[in-house]
Formats: sequence, structure tokens, C-alpha cells
Amino acid sequence: MGYDTDVVIIGAGPVGLTLANLLGLRGIDVVLLEAGHELIDYPRAVGIDDEAMRVMQGIGLVEEVLPHTVPDQQIRMVNGRGKVIGVIDPTTRVFGWPRRNGFVQPLVDRVLLDGLDRFANVRVQFDTRMTQLRQDGEGVTVQYSAPGGQERAVRAKWVVAADGGSSGTRKALGISFEGETRKTPGLVIDVANDPIGTPHAVFGGDPKRGWATLSLPHGIRRWEFNVLPGEEDRAETDAFVHEMLADHVPDPSALNIIRRRVYTFNARIAGTFRKGRVLLAGDAAHVMPVVAGQGWNSGIRDAVNLGWKLAAVVDGRADAGLLDTYDQERRDHVAAMIGLSLNMSRLMTNRSRLASAARDLSAAVISKLPKLKAQVSSQGFKPMPQYERGVVVPSSLPRSKSVPISADSPLSVGTLFPQPRVRTADGAEKLLDDATGTDWRVIVWNNDPAALLRPSTAELLPVLGATLVHIVPAAQLPWASAQAAAGVTVVGDPAGEVKRWFDVRPFSALVVRPDHVIAAECLAQELDETLQKVLTAARVIRPAAADLGPAADAARLVELAPDTPEAAPVG
Ligand SMILES: Cc1cc2nc3c(=O)[nH]c(=O)nc-3n(C[C@H](O)[C@H](O)[C@H](O)COP(=O)(O)OP(=O)(O)OC[C@H]3O[C@@H](n4cnc5c(N)ncnc54)[C@H](O)[C@@H]3O)c2cc1C
Repeated sequence: MGYDTDVVIIGAGPVGLTLANLLGLRGIDVVLLEAGHELIDYPRAVGIDDEAMRVMQGIGLVEEVLPHTVPDQQIRMVNGRGKVIGVIDPTTRVFGWPRRNGFVQPLVDRVLLDGLDRFANVRVQFDTRMTQLRQDGEGVTVQYSAPGGQERAVRAKWVVAADGGSSGTRKALGISFEGETRKTPGLVIDVANDPIGTPHAVFGGDPKRGWATLSLPHGIRRWEFNVLPGEEDRAETDAFVHEMLADHVPDPSALNIIRRRVYTFNARIAGTFRKGRVLLAGDAAHVMPVVAGQGWNSGIRDAVNLGWKLAAVVDGRADAGLLDTYDQERRDHVAAMIGLSLNMSRLMTNRSRLASAARDLSAAVISKLPKLKAQVSSQGFKPMPQYERGVVVPSSLPRSKSVPISADSPLSVGTLFPQPRVRTADGAEKLLDDATGTDWRVIVWNNDPAALLRPSTAELLPVLGATLVHIVPAAQLPWASAQAAAGVTVVGDPAGEVKRWFDVRPFSALVVRPDHVIAAECLAQELDETLQKVLTAARVIRPAAADLGPAADAARLVELAPDTPEAAPVG
């Protein structure tokens, strides 16, 4: 049976849209089905982090996203008496962008949709609800109700369900969604012509009622209030909204409310992120309380983890087993984010006076301890991706007298490579990813990577899709650029940021994935051997096997056959 497309994505939320952009850039044929008549416009995410901004940069849309952000938005946490008990104000640019940015989700989601106009290979269909899936060893047939109500079908090699927290796909596939649902909902209000106007976000840990407010771009202000037991029925009425805002603005009845909505918050994670040829991403795979601002951001991490893997499998460059690493890598990090969100939620919405007093006391102690205070302010409590399995080659400290090891010699495999500003051969200074591209990169400090690889290994670089990057002190840039072998990108390190990064590490060569995760690290002389291990970890089909064509396909079908479900109606 043939295919209508390579990949069907179900759901044009931020995750489906980002994945469609990532696949569009890689030339993969995508059909994106969206049940709604247009994108969701109700009030949701207000915080985009530096990792997600780097993804926006990678898909070429960051300039369009930036006008809808408040960079470096500070959070002030206050107690029930309005006293500031903590400030979160990270100033790092480790990934090239401010760590905390306020933003307006519907406007950024629109940028992601408009970005798809660049790709003839991505088709978006609104008013199109997926109703049924049927998968076999070779592909998935997705049935949908088209505009006008007719039932149609589209057949794809792979399907990604990015259909939100109440994902019909997840339910149809019988995938569990374990976790908890908060007993009381939250009221969210967006107001135009910001009646407060101050730039920061405020989290109110009042035992009487938890609340939050944020300044957003374009004069928009967000308020969020806990709805207490017994208030649910009237939570969306004008009277209730005015009552909530009475302590915040002089005249609540004079506000220009542009969106309001009552939400029930969940903390849940799907039992698996892959079933046969269907993958779950974003809220379909995990949901979390909003206070840590990590639902949208976690979904973007899913998309960037999945994008390059799906493209490699569709292109026949990697074995389908590569897609199992998506769940292996993302699950622990998502669970950690859910844990953080639950803890922050308990901290700021606790209704016990005793617990609130204990929190305030702890905050007072922390404010007296500079190291801990800095840890809170810099958001050092935020879990960072650190993959121990998946497409990584675990490292151990090298045995070389020339590489002295100290307590601050960290191993970096599985973590994100930073994004410093670098200088290119033409003298321009730019962010690393703009200078090197965002596919696989073999990054070597002060050594020509081409000279460290055997020709037979170098031949495999295009199969992986890797670029060779030689980073040198900026002073050496003209010389190194003139000497560079064909295909090697040479960049200078004008502020010494890259040197300082390598200064405290016991290695000088890295293999970095398209999602910026360090897949491997080694001494220069070990690069060839290490790259071979990366090729294995990335399930790369080496040319001899790829040439087998149908045989390689057959091997993949055998692997998928056992868990292919029957037709799965969507309730
Ligand atoms: C009040 C609030 C505040 C938040 N604040 C933050 C924050 O500050 N930072 C943050 O990171 N996150 C935040 N979030 C979470 C964030 O909004 C979500 O995590 C994010 O929107 C999830 O994106 P998604 O693409 O996975 O799903 P969604 O955005 O829910 O998109 C799913 C899409 O799938 C479509 N769909 C559903 N079923 C079908 C079907 N059968 N066929 C076709 N299409 C279908 C839907 O119509 C929808 O368009 C907040 C959420 C809320 C509610």
C-alpha cells in the first residue's frame, strides 16, 4: 500500500506546529490536521524559556517571535501580607537567549503557523478532526472528518499525536495517563491596556487564595487566581472577576478583558510516548500545573527531540529503533518538570497558615545565605535535560597525565551544549547555531576535526548529516580559516566563552546532536572511534545496509509487527 505523506501530525497547537516546521525544513512531507476552525486563542502560556527560544532560532522564526516577548522577566514572590519573600531573576545567556521571557501564546503560535507557508511539503488542514487510526507494520491510516463532514483518510509512514491534554489518539491507543488532577480549578484573565504597567511577574502565595500576575507584550496583563471549593459555578461571571481584581486595580469594572477562562490543572504522564508508528508529543504525552511555566516549553523540547529522529528514519538514514530513544530521553526530564511544577504549586497555593509561615521562614533564611539566594534567583532549581540513555555515548574521565582531573571536571554527555557568540571568517559575530547550522556538529577546540578522522569515517558524516566545526581563539581565526580543509566551518571565540567552557572539562572534542544535546565527548585522538560509537547509538544505517533498501525496510517491519493495534476508534 502506498503513502499519501511521510508524517501526519494531529493537532496544530505549538507542538504540532513546531514539529511541522522542523520536518518542513528537512524536506519531509507532512500533513497537519487541526480540528479547530483556527488556532486556539484562549489565554494559556505566558513564559517561554531560553531552550525554546533556541528552537525558534533553529527553525528560522526567532525574529518574528521576539516582538511578542518580554525578555528577562523577573518574578517576585510575595506572601499573604504582600511582603517579597523571593526574587527569580536569571541573567544567564548560556543558550544565547534570556532564560525567562514573558510571551503571548496565541501570537507566537500564529508565527509558527505562518512559518509553514515556507514549505510546499507541509499541508495544514483546519476543520479536520482525526476520528480513527489503523496501523499495520508499514504505516498508519488516519481517518478524519473533513470540512463539510465527509469522512476521509490519509495514509502515512508515521503519525505524531500533538492533540493536547485530552488527546483522542492517546485514548484510542489505550495508553494510560497516570497522575493527579487538582481538586480546585484556576481562573485566568487577560486584560488589554495594562492597568498596572510594571514589567515583572508577581506570584502571590497568600494562604487565603493563591494568585499570580504578569506583564505581557503589547500592553496585555495576565491574572491567575485559584478558585476555591464552592466558587466553581460563578468563577467565570463578571461579578467574580471584579471581586478577584478588587485588591489589584482601582476600578475592576473599567477593565478591558480580552480573554478569560477557568481551567482544571493536571499533573499526568502517558504510559508510553510511542505505540508502533504513532508517537505522542506535548500535552498529549504530559500535562503539568502552570506555575513553573513549562507545559509549552516541554512540548517544544519533545518536538526538537523528535524532529531530527523522525526525519532520519523517514529518509532511510536511521533504523526505526531510533524512535524508541524519544521516550527514553524525554520521560525522566518531563517527570522532573512535573515534580517541579507540583512543588512550586504547593508552595504558592498552600492554604495552611502554618505551612505558609514555614515557607516564609525558609525564604527569610535563604535570603541571608548568598549562595542559596543566588541559586533561587538564577533558577538553579530548574531541571535541565541530562540524558543518560538514548542517543548518547556515556563517557568517563580520561586516563591521561596531561589532563589533570579536579572536582570541577564535569562530564557533559547528555547535557545541552551552550550557545556562545562566535566570530566567522568574514569578521561577523553571531550566535553559534547561526554560524554552524543546527544539524549534527562535530565540534573540536583548537584542532582541525578533518585531520582527526579516517576517510572511511568522514564518508559517513553526510549519512549522519554532520558538519565539522573547528573553534579557535579569535586571534587564530584568519590563519585557521585559510588552512581549513574543505567542508570544515572555522569559528573564533571572541570573548573566550568557549575556551572557559573547555577549560574546566577533561575533553576537547564533542559530537553535538541537532537538538544541541552532547552525544559524545573525547580527547582529540579518540574522535574517530567516538564518532563510530555515535553512529551506532544514532541507529545510523551504514551505506552498505542502506543499499539493501527493501531488506532494511523488512527488518523494520518485523520489529514493529508485535504491537500494532487493530483499528482504534476515537471516542
Ligand atoms: C492558564 C495556562 C497557563 C499556561 N502557562 C504556561 C507557561 O507559562 N509556559 C508554558 O510552557 N506552558 C504554559 N501552559 C501550557 C501550554 O499552554 C500547553 O502546554 C501547550 O499549549 C500545549 O501545546 P500542545 O501543542 O501540546 O497542545 P494544544 O495547544 O492543546 O494543541 C492541541 C491541538 O490539537 C487539536 N486537536 C485535538 N484533538 C484533535 C483531533 N482529534 N484532530 C485534529 N486536531 C485535534 C486541538 O484543537 C488543538 O489545536 C499554560 C497553560 C494554561 C492553561
